[in-house]
Amino acid sequence: MKTLDYLVIHCTASAFGADLTGADVERLHRNVFRWSRVGYRAVVRRNGIIDRLVPANLNCFVEDQEITWGAGPINAYAHHVVYVGGLGKDGAPADTRTYAQHAALEYICRFYVEKVCPSVKVMGHNQVPGPFGKKACPSFWVPDWLDEIGFPSENVERSDPHGQANEIRGLKKIS
Ligand SMILES: [Zn+2]
Repeated sequence: MKTLDYLVIHCTASAFGADLTGADVERLHRNVFRWSRVGYRAVVRRNGIIDRLVPANLNCFVEDQEITWGAGPINAYAHHVVYVGGLGKDGAPADTRTYAQHAALEYICRFYVEKVCPSVKVMGHNQVPGPFGKKACPSFWVPDWLDEIGFPSENVERSDPHGQANEIRGLKKIS
């Protein structure tokens, strides 16, 4: 059993305005992708409702049943959460978080530090090192956002293994 080192934020990269639920994401992963597990523990809908897909033990250890397929290299020591959105009307990566999604994501991040694992570090999918290389997901630079909301600095993962920070900072913000 590994320790819970990271909480990783993703976007669904679904069509602009698509109002997916947790059940939609679960169907996509299990029935379309034919994955044996879903990619994320929880889905933050556009209205801010958090749909939980996988229960967790709420401590600093990741048991097998808590593992989801969010980002290959780190799945065994991470939890993954996703907000619905991440693409603009033109299909290009954009920060489409609604006000409600901002609030729900902040709630989740603070909940992890305060109630689940005080040593956890929060990062974006685009900060995950490894063979899959660059990606825009979650279409915003997570360390900047965490600094904006006054998140504890020791819980912010600041690495930029693919050198993407500035590119991601330049993405459009539309919701
Ligand atoms: Zn992702």
